[in-house]
Amino acid sequence: MSSLSRSSFVWGSVAGAWMPTLSAVAGTGSAVELTQIARLYSMRLESVGDKLVLRNRYNRIEFEVNGRRAWVNGVMFWLHEPCRRSGGAWGIRREDFERGIDPVLRSYSHAPRRVPRVVVIDPGHGGKDSGAVGPRGAMEKQVVLDISYRMKRALEGHNFKVVLTRSGDSYPSLDDRVELAERVRADLFLSIHADGAASAKAHGVETFVTTVKGFDSSNHYGEGGDRSGVRNNTFDAANAMLGFAVQSNLVKLSGRSDRGVRRARFRVIKQAPCPAALVECGFLTNAEEARLLRSESYRARVAQGVVNGVRAYYTLVSRARR
Ligand SMILES: [Zn+2]
Repeated sequence: MSSLSRSSFVWGSVAGAWMPTLSAVAGTGSAVELTQIARLYSMRLESVGDKLVLRNRYNRIEFEVNGRRAWVNGVMFWLHEPCRRSGGAWGIRREDFERGIDPVLRSYSHAPRRVPRVVVIDPGHGGKDSGAVGPRGAMEKQVVLDISYRMKRALEGHNFKVVLTRSGDSYPSLDDRVELAERVRADLFLSIHADGAASAKAHGVETFVTTVKGFDSSNHYGEGGDRSGVRNNTFDAANAMLGFAVQSNLVKLSGRSDRGVRRARFRVIKQAPCPAALVECGFLTNAEEARLLRSESYRARVAQGVVNGVRAYYTLVSRARR
Protein backbone atom coordinates (compact mmCIF):
# COMPACT_ATOMS: atom_id res chain seq x y z
CA MET A 1 0.00 0.00 0.00
CA SER A 2 1.25 3.42 -0.82
CA SER A 3 2.28 5.44 2.13
CA LEU A 4 2.29 9.16 2.40
CA SER A 5 4.37 10.01 5.39
CA ARG A 6 2.70 12.98 6.92
CA SER A 7 3.01 13.57 10.61
CA SER A 8 -0.32 15.38 10.91
CA PHE A 9 -3.20 13.16 11.92
CA VAL A 10 -5.70 15.21 9.95
CA TRP A 11 -5.68 14.21 6.29
CA GLY A 12 -6.91 16.16 3.38
CA SER A 13 -7.69 19.82 3.76
CA VAL A 14 -6.16 21.72 0.85
CA ALA A 15 -7.38 24.77 2.69
CA GLY A 16 -7.58 28.15 1.11
CA ALA A 17 -7.00 27.15 -2.49
CA TRP A 18 -9.35 28.40 -5.16
CA MET A 19 -11.80 25.69 -6.10
CA PRO A 20 -14.42 25.52 -8.83
CA THR A 21 -17.86 24.62 -7.52
CA LEU A 22 -18.77 21.00 -7.17
CA SER A 23 -21.76 21.26 -9.50
CA ALA A 24 -19.58 22.64 -12.28
CA VAL A 25 -17.41 19.57 -12.00
CA ALA A 26 -19.97 16.89 -11.35
CA GLY A 27 -22.07 17.74 -14.41
CA THR A 28 -25.40 16.09 -14.92
CA GLY A 29 -24.50 12.44 -15.63
CA SER A 30 -24.39 9.62 -13.11
CA ALA A 31 -20.61 9.31 -13.47
CA VAL A 32 -17.83 11.75 -12.73
CA GLU A 33 -14.77 11.40 -14.95
CA LEU A 34 -11.40 11.08 -13.27
CA THR A 35 -10.07 13.85 -15.49
CA GLN A 36 -12.73 16.18 -14.00
CA ILE A 37 -11.69 15.20 -10.49
CA ALA A 38 -8.05 15.79 -11.42
CA ARG A 39 -8.91 19.27 -12.64
CA LEU A 40 -10.90 20.10 -9.50
CA TYR A 41 -8.08 19.08 -7.17
CA SER A 42 -5.23 20.26 -9.41
CA MET A 43 -3.90 16.72 -9.55
CA ARG A 44 -2.06 14.70 -12.16
CA LEU A 45 -3.79 11.57 -13.43
CA GLU A 46 -1.65 8.60 -14.38
CA SER A 47 -1.95 4.89 -14.87
CA VAL A 48 0.19 2.74 -12.55
CA GLY A 49 -0.22 -1.03 -13.01
CA ASP A 50 -3.89 -1.87 -12.49
CA LYS A 51 -4.58 1.46 -10.80
CA LEU A 52 -5.39 4.96 -11.89
CA VAL A 53 -3.63 7.44 -9.66
CA LEU A 54 -4.50 11.06 -9.01
CA ARG A 55 -1.96 13.06 -7.10
CA ASN A 56 -0.54 16.41 -6.20
CA ARG A 57 1.91 17.34 -3.47
CA TYR A 58 -0.72 17.08 -0.72
CA ASN A 59 -2.94 14.15 -1.58
CA ARG A 60 -3.02 10.91 -3.49
CA ILE A 61 -6.09 8.98 -4.62
CA GLU A 62 -5.76 5.55 -6.21
CA PHE A 63 -8.57 3.76 -8.02
CA GLU A 64 -8.51 0.06 -8.76
CA VAL A 65 -9.39 -0.34 -12.44
CA ASN A 66 -12.84 -2.03 -12.71
CA GLY A 67 -12.83 -2.50 -8.93
CA ARG A 68 -14.59 -0.99 -5.92
CA ARG A 69 -11.45 -0.33 -3.96
CA ALA A 70 -9.90 3.11 -3.79
CA TRP A 71 -7.14 4.43 -1.53
CA VAL A 72 -7.12 7.97 -0.23
CA ASN A 73 -3.69 8.88 1.10
CA GLY A 74 -3.01 5.17 1.49
CA VAL A 75 -6.19 4.30 3.40
CA MET A 76 -8.64 1.95 1.70
CA PHE A 77 -12.00 3.48 0.89
CA TRP A 78 -14.65 1.28 -0.76
CA LEU A 79 -16.69 2.72 -3.60
CA HIS A 80 -20.34 1.81 -4.06
CA GLU A 81 -19.64 0.87 -7.68
CA PRO A 82 -16.41 0.09 -9.55
CA CYS A 83 -14.22 2.66 -11.24
CA ARG A 84 -15.26 2.01 -14.87
CA ARG A 85 -14.63 3.16 -18.37
CA SER A 86 -17.59 4.55 -20.23
CA GLY A 87 -17.64 6.54 -23.43
CA GLY A 88 -13.85 6.34 -23.58
CA ALA A 89 -13.27 7.91 -20.14
CA TRP A 90 -12.62 6.43 -16.71
CA GLY A 91 -15.01 7.52 -14.01
CA ILE A 92 -16.71 6.75 -10.72
CA ARG A 93 -20.32 7.14 -9.63
CA ARG A 94 -21.23 10.69 -8.80
CA GLU A 95 -22.43 9.63 -5.31
CA ASP A 96 -19.04 8.06 -4.60
CA PHE A 97 -17.43 11.36 -5.43
CA GLU A 98 -19.89 13.74 -3.76
CA ARG A 99 -20.57 11.66 -0.64
CA GLY A 100 -17.31 9.76 -0.38
CA ILE A 101 -14.11 11.11 -1.86
CA ASP A 102 -14.89 14.84 -1.83
CA PRO A 103 -16.00 15.05 1.82
CA VAL A 104 -12.69 13.40 2.75
CA LEU A 105 -10.56 15.65 0.54
CA ARG A 106 -12.47 18.91 1.03
CA SER A 107 -14.05 18.45 4.42
CA TYR A 108 -14.37 22.21 4.88
CA SER A 109 -17.14 22.33 2.28
CA HIS A 110 -19.06 19.32 3.66
CA ALA A 111 -18.64 19.47 7.44
CA PRO A 112 -21.79 19.69 9.56
CA ARG A 113 -22.37 22.99 11.34
CA ARG A 114 -22.43 21.50 14.81
CA VAL A 115 -19.10 20.77 16.45
CA PRO A 116 -19.34 17.34 18.13
CA ARG A 117 -19.55 17.42 21.92
CA VAL A 118 -21.69 14.41 22.89
CA VAL A 119 -20.35 11.03 21.82
CA VAL A 120 -22.34 7.83 22.28
CA ILE A 121 -20.15 4.75 22.40
CA ASP A 122 -21.96 1.48 21.79
CA PRO A 123 -20.09 -1.61 23.00
CA GLY A 124 -21.56 -4.28 20.68
CA HIS A 125 -23.59 -7.28 21.92
CA GLY A 126 -23.71 -8.02 25.69
CA GLY A 127 -25.67 -10.27 28.07
CA LYS A 128 -27.24 -13.21 26.25
CA ASP A 129 -25.38 -12.19 23.08
CA SER A 130 -21.64 -12.94 23.32
CA GLY A 131 -20.87 -11.83 19.77
CA ALA A 132 -17.85 -13.52 18.17
CA VAL A 133 -15.95 -16.00 20.35
CA GLY A 134 -12.21 -16.60 20.02
CA PRO A 135 -10.40 -19.96 19.99
CA ARG A 136 -9.51 -19.61 23.68
CA GLY A 137 -12.90 -18.37 24.74
CA ALA A 138 -12.39 -14.61 24.49
CA MET A 139 -15.82 -13.09 23.95
CA GLU A 140 -16.49 -10.10 21.76
CA LYS A 141 -18.93 -8.59 24.28
CA GLN A 142 -16.17 -8.43 26.93
CA VAL A 143 -13.39 -7.22 24.64
CA VAL A 144 -15.47 -4.38 23.19
CA LEU A 145 -16.73 -3.25 26.61
CA ASP A 146 -13.12 -2.86 27.75
CA ILE A 147 -12.18 -0.93 24.59
CA SER A 148 -15.26 1.28 25.01
CA TYR A 149 -14.35 2.20 28.60
CA ARG A 150 -10.84 3.10 27.51
CA MET A 151 -12.28 5.32 24.78
CA LYS A 152 -14.66 6.93 27.24
CA ARG A 153 -11.87 7.88 29.64
CA ALA A 154 -9.70 9.26 26.86
CA LEU A 155 -12.49 11.29 25.23
CA GLU A 156 -13.59 12.71 28.58
CA GLY A 157 -10.00 13.85 29.01
CA HIS A 158 -10.53 15.88 25.83
CA ASN A 159 -13.75 17.42 27.13
CA PHE A 160 -16.24 15.32 25.23
CA LYS A 161 -19.37 14.19 27.01
CA VAL A 162 -19.49 10.42 26.61
CA VAL A 163 -22.43 8.09 27.12
CA LEU A 164 -22.17 4.30 26.85
CA THR A 165 -25.14 2.28 25.61
CA ARG A 166 -24.30 -0.38 28.21
CA SER A 167 -22.04 -0.19 31.23
CA GLY A 168 -21.95 -3.89 32.07
CA ASP A 169 -22.88 -7.32 30.75
CA SER A 170 -26.40 -6.43 29.66
CA TYR A 171 -28.13 -6.52 26.30
CA PRO A 172 -29.92 -3.32 25.28
CA SER A 173 -31.84 -3.96 22.05
CA LEU A 174 -30.52 -2.31 18.90
CA ASP A 175 -33.47 0.08 18.98
CA ASP A 176 -32.72 0.94 22.64
CA ARG A 177 -29.18 1.90 21.64
CA VAL A 178 -30.45 4.21 18.90
CA GLU A 179 -33.09 5.71 21.23
CA LEU A 180 -30.43 6.47 23.81
CA ALA A 181 -28.46 8.38 21.17
CA GLU A 182 -31.60 10.42 20.46
CA ARG A 183 -32.30 11.05 24.11
CA VAL A 184 -28.86 12.43 24.91
CA ARG A 185 -28.73 14.36 21.60
CA ALA A 186 -25.64 12.56 20.40
CA ASP A 187 -23.39 14.34 17.94
CA LEU A 188 -21.54 11.13 17.11
CA PHE A 189 -22.38 7.45 17.45
CA LEU A 190 -19.63 4.83 17.49
CA SER A 191 -20.46 1.13 17.71
CA ILE A 192 -17.48 -0.96 18.76
CA HIS A 193 -17.08 -4.59 17.62
CA ALA A 194 -14.59 -7.38 17.05
CA ASP A 195 -15.07 -9.48 13.96
CA GLY A 196 -15.80 -13.14 13.41
CA ALA A 197 -15.54 -15.04 10.12
CA ALA A 198 -15.87 -18.61 8.87
CA SER A 199 -12.27 -18.49 7.65
CA ALA A 200 -9.63 -18.34 10.38
CA LYS A 201 -7.43 -16.49 7.89
CA ALA A 202 -9.60 -13.35 7.78
CA HIS A 203 -7.84 -10.52 9.61
CA GLY A 204 -7.51 -6.76 9.82
CA VAL A 205 -9.53 -3.76 10.93
CA GLU A 206 -12.40 -2.01 9.19
CA THR A 207 -14.86 0.83 9.72
CA PHE A 208 -18.43 0.79 8.41
CA VAL A 209 -20.58 3.77 7.61
CA THR A 210 -24.12 3.78 6.24
CA THR A 211 -24.54 2.82 2.58
CA VAL A 212 -25.74 5.63 0.33
CA LYS A 213 -29.32 5.24 -0.94
CA GLY A 214 -29.65 3.24 -4.16
CA PHE A 215 -26.50 1.12 -3.73
CA ASP A 216 -25.40 -2.28 -2.45
CA SER A 217 -23.40 -2.47 0.76
CA SER A 218 -19.78 -3.63 0.93
CA ASN A 219 -19.73 -5.75 4.06
CA HIS A 220 -18.18 -9.16 3.57
CA TYR A 221 -21.40 -11.13 3.74
CA GLY A 222 -23.57 -8.98 1.44
CA GLU A 223 -27.08 -7.84 2.08
CA GLY A 224 -29.30 -9.47 -0.49
CA GLY A 225 -29.88 -6.53 -2.76
CA ASP A 226 -31.17 -4.05 -0.15
CA ARG A 227 -30.72 -0.62 -1.70
CA SER A 228 -33.11 1.35 0.44
CA GLY A 229 -32.60 4.85 1.74
CA VAL A 230 -32.39 5.15 5.53
CA ARG A 231 -32.57 7.83 8.18
CA ASN A 232 -28.80 8.10 8.61
CA ASN A 233 -28.37 8.99 4.91
CA THR A 234 -28.91 12.62 6.01
CA PHE A 235 -25.31 12.41 7.22
CA ASP A 236 -23.69 10.75 4.18
CA ALA A 237 -20.94 13.35 3.78
CA ALA A 238 -20.15 13.57 7.51
CA ASN A 239 -20.16 9.76 7.71
CA ALA A 240 -17.49 9.60 5.02
CA MET A 241 -15.35 12.13 6.91
CA LEU A 242 -15.83 10.30 10.21
CA GLY A 243 -15.26 6.84 8.72
CA PHE A 244 -12.05 7.94 7.06
CA ALA A 245 -10.76 9.75 10.16
CA VAL A 246 -11.45 6.69 12.34
CA GLN A 247 -10.14 4.07 9.92
CA SER A 248 -6.89 5.91 9.12
CA ASN A 249 -6.08 6.38 12.80
CA LEU A 250 -7.21 2.87 13.74
CA VAL A 251 -4.94 1.30 11.10
CA LYS A 252 -2.04 3.45 12.26
CA LEU A 253 -2.39 2.66 15.97
CA SER A 254 -3.44 -0.99 15.72
CA GLY A 255 -0.76 -1.87 13.17
CA ARG A 256 -3.21 -4.35 11.61
CA SER A 257 -4.01 -4.63 7.92
CA ASP A 258 -6.44 -2.16 6.43
CA ARG A 259 -9.78 -3.65 5.29
CA GLY A 260 -11.03 -0.19 4.53
CA VAL A 261 -13.91 2.17 5.11
CA ARG A 262 -16.91 0.07 4.05
CA ARG A 263 -20.62 0.52 3.64
CA ALA A 264 -23.38 -1.33 5.44
CA ARG A 265 -26.96 -0.89 6.61
CA PHE A 266 -26.38 -2.25 10.10
CA ARG A 267 -29.35 -1.32 12.25
CA VAL A 268 -27.48 0.77 14.83
CA ILE A 269 -25.82 2.98 12.24
CA LYS A 270 -28.58 3.22 9.65
CA GLN A 271 -31.03 4.50 12.29
CA ALA A 272 -28.53 6.71 14.13
CA PRO A 273 -29.68 10.36 14.51
CA CYS A 274 -26.15 11.71 13.89
CA PRO A 275 -22.96 10.83 11.98
CA ALA A 276 -22.17 7.23 12.89
CA ALA A 277 -19.60 4.49 12.37
CA LEU A 278 -19.31 0.84 13.33
CA VAL A 279 -15.73 -0.17 14.04
CA GLU A 280 -14.37 -3.73 13.77
CA CYS A 281 -11.20 -3.91 15.87
CA GLY A 282 -9.81 -7.21 14.55
CA PHE A 283 -10.95 -10.81 14.15
CA LEU A 284 -11.49 -13.01 17.20
CA THR A 285 -11.61 -15.96 14.80
CA ASN A 286 -8.01 -15.30 13.73
CA ALA A 287 -5.49 -16.79 16.18
CA GLU A 288 -3.07 -13.88 16.09
CA GLU A 289 -5.71 -11.18 16.39
CA ALA A 290 -7.53 -13.11 19.14
CA ARG A 291 -4.28 -13.10 21.09
CA LEU A 292 -3.94 -9.35 20.51
CA LEU A 293 -7.54 -8.65 21.49
CA ARG A 294 -6.92 -10.51 24.76
CA SER A 295 -3.97 -8.23 25.53
CA GLU A 296 -4.48 -4.96 27.36
CA SER A 297 -1.85 -3.17 25.30
CA TYR A 298 -3.61 -3.91 21.99
CA ARG A 299 -7.00 -2.89 23.37
CA ALA A 300 -5.42 0.36 24.59
CA ARG A 301 -3.91 1.04 21.16
CA VAL A 302 -7.18 0.33 19.37
CA ALA A 303 -9.10 2.60 21.75
CA GLN A 304 -6.54 5.37 21.22
CA GLY A 305 -6.78 4.92 17.43
CA VAL A 306 -10.55 5.42 17.44
CA VAL A 307 -10.22 8.35 19.85
CA ASN A 308 -7.63 9.97 17.57
CA GLY A 309 -10.11 9.50 14.72
CA VAL A 310 -12.84 11.29 16.69
CA ARG A 311 -10.44 14.11 17.51
CA ALA A 312 -9.37 14.39 13.86
CA TYR A 313 -13.03 14.61 12.86
CA TYR A 314 -13.61 17.25 15.54
CA THR A 315 -10.70 19.28 14.18
CA LEU A 316 -12.06 19.11 10.62
CA VAL A 317 -15.52 20.27 11.71
CA SER A 318 -14.15 23.08 13.92
CA ARG A 319 -11.89 24.37 11.14
CA ALA A 320 -14.70 24.33 8.60
CA ARG A 321 -16.73 26.68 10.79
CA ARG A 322 -14.09 29.38 10.85
ZN1 LIG B 1 -20.11 -7.63 16.70
